[in-house]
Amino acid sequence: MSNPDLESDVVIVGSGMGGGTTAYALAKKGVNVLVLERGERLPSEKQNWDPKEVFLNKRYKSKEVWVDSKGKKFEAGVHFYVGGNTKMYGASLPRLREKDFEELQHLEGKSPAWPFTYWDIEPFYVEAEKMYKVHNNVGENPTEPPRSEPFPYPALPHDPYISALATRLKKAGVTPHSNSMGIDYGDDGKCIVCRTCDGFACRVGAKSDAEINAINPALLTGKVKLQTSAEVIKIELTDDGKRVDYLLVKGPNGEYKVRGKKFVLSCGAVLTSALLLRSKSVKAPNGVANSSDMVGRNFMMHVNTHIAAFDFKRKNNVTFQKTLSFSDWYFDGGKGYPLGIIQLIGKVQGIMMKSYATKVPLPILNYIANRSVEFLVMNEDLPSKENRVTIDEKNQVKITRKPVGMRTHKKLMKKTLKVMRKSGYQAIFKQPFDLSMNAHQCGTTVSGNDPKKSVVDQYCKTHDVENLYLIDGGFFPSSASVNPALTIAAQALRVVAKSDLAK
Ligand SMILES: Cc1cc2nc3c(=O)[nH]c(=O)nc-3n(C[C@H](O)[C@H](O)[C@H](O)COP(=O)(O)OP(=O)(O)OC[C@H]3O[C@@H](n4cnc5c(N)ncnc54)[C@H](O)[C@@H]3O)c2cc1C
Ligand code: SF4
Repeated sequence: MSNPDLESDVVIVGSGMGGGTTAYALAKKGVNVLVLERGERLPSEKQNWDPKEVFLNKRYKSKEVWVDSKGKKFEAGVHFYVGGNTKMYGASLPRLREKDFEELQHLEGKSPAWPFTYWDIEPFYVEAEKMYKVHNNVGENPTEPPRSEPFPYPALPHDPYISALATRLKKAGVTPHSNSMGIDYGDDGKCIVCRTCDGFACRVGAKSDAEINAINPALLTGKVKLQTSAEVIKIELTDDGKRVDYLLVKGPNGEYKVRGKKFVLSCGAVLTSALLLRSKSVKAPNGVANSSDMVGRNFMMHVNTHIAAFDFKRKNNVTFQKTLSFSDWYFDGGKGYPLGIIQLIGKVQGIMMKSYATKVPLPILNYIANRSVEFLVMNEDLPSKENRVTIDEKNQVKITRKPVGMRTHKKLMKKTLKVMRKSGYQAIFKQPFDLSMNAHQCGTTVSGNDPKKSVVDQYCKTHDVENLYLIDGGFFPSSASVNPALTIAAQALRVVAKSDLAK
C-alpha cells in the first residue's frame, strides 16, 4: 500500500524549533499547514532519564553519519523526533545582544551585520519568551540587551551549592547572573526539578520544547496536520525553475509527492542545506536556491569547551545545576575585543563521563562528578565561506570546518580558569568540542540583502525560488556567543507576522 499524495497551503519540513514555531504562528493566523517530520514522537518512558541509556547507549540519537573534510565518518549530533533537537536540548533560551546584530570587530575578523536590527526582532523575542515560558530577572546581567517587557516568569532559584558558588565567583571578580530557562516551573508548573534535564528528554513534558509548546498547541487549532516518518528526499521545481512544484517524500510505505502553495524547510542548518544541494537538477544545476553558491557555506557551531571544575573539599549535591552564567567578557575581554560567555550546564554524572573518558574506572568518575561543577565556555565562531556543508561522491553529508575563533577561545579559557581557581577549584578538566558536538549548528543558508552573498532575505524567503522559505538555524549570518534556539523561534514568529508567507 502506498501513501496518497498530500497537499496543503503551507508545507513545513521539520518540526523542531524553526518548523514547530512556524506551524504554530501560521495556525494562529488561520493558515492550513502540513508538517512533514522524518521522526516519530519521542516516547515518554523510564529510559528518558537514564544517563546510561541516553549517553552510553545513545538511545535517542539519530543514526545519521556525516564525514569530515578528510572523509572520516562521525555521528552527527542530531535527533529526529517531533520537536527535533529541542527534545534533548538544555532549554537555555537567551536573547542575542543588540550589538550582535551589527558588524562587530573580533580578534580574528569581523562578525557581519544582520539584515535586520535587534529592535526589528525584539517584539518577537517577547512573544517567543512567553510561548516557551522563559524564566529570568531583568538587571542581573551587565551585558543583557534592553527589552520592552520584563521576562514572563522570574528566574529559577539556585540550589544552595550554586548560591554559594555565585558568592565565590563574585569575590573572584565576575558578575554571576541567572540563566534564561524555558521550563514549566512554579506553583502551577509541571516541572518536578530533576537531575536529568540538559541532554535528556523531559519525561513529564515540562521542558519547553517545540513539540510541547508549538506543535501540540498548533494541532489543537485544527489548522495543522502532522505527518511523521515522512522524510523529504527531493525538492522538485516547476519547469521554469522559479517555484517549488512538489516535494518527494519517503515514508514507511514508499515514496509520494506533497504539493503546496508555499514551502518551508526547517530541517536544521546542515540538513536543510544538504536537501537543497541534493535536489540539484537541470533546472537548478548547483542545487535549489543556490545561484549564489552560498548554500552550505558559512557553517558555524560556536567554539566550545566543557569544563569540570573540581574541589575535593566540597561535595556538589545539586539537583538542577543549569541556573547561572557569567558574561562579563561578552563584548570586551580587556583589550576591546569580544570574548564570550561561561554558562553552567546540567549536572554531569560519572556514567555520562564514561562516553568519552572510556578508560577511567567508573568509581573514579563518580568521585570526580560528586565534587565538580560543569560549565560551557562558549565564544563566537566567525563565518567563513570555506567552512561548509557539501555532498560527497557517495551522497554523504561532508562538513569542512576550521573554527575561526580559536585565539579568542584560548583567551576566554585562560580568564575562565583563573576565575575558577580563585573560586576555590583545585583542578579543571577540559573537553573541547569536536565536529560531532554540533548542537549549536547555524549558518549555511545565511540571510542578507544581497542575493549574490546570501541565500535568503531578512524574512527567510529564498532569493531564487518564489515560494520557498528556510526557517531554522541556517539563516544566522553570525553565531554570536549565546545559545541559538530562542532567536530561531523569534525569527519564525517574525517571518509569519511580517512576510507574505501567511498571505
Ligand atoms: C543536547 C543538546 C542541547 C542543546 N541545548 C540548547 C540550549 O540549551 N539552548 C539552545 O538555544 N539550543 C540548544 N541546543 C540547540 C537547539 O536544540 C537547536 O538550536 C534548535 O533545535 C535548532 O532548531 P532547528 O529548527 O534549526 O532544527 P531542529 O530543532 O533540529 O529541527 C529539525 C527537524 O527537522 C527534521 N528533519 C530533518 N531532515 C528532514 C527531512 N529531510 N524530512 C523531514 N524532516 C526532517 C528533524 O527530524 C527535526 O525534527 C541543544 C541541542 C542539543 C542536541
Ligand atoms: S528539570 Fe523539570 S523540565 Fe527538566 S527534565 Fe526534569 S522535570 Fe523536566
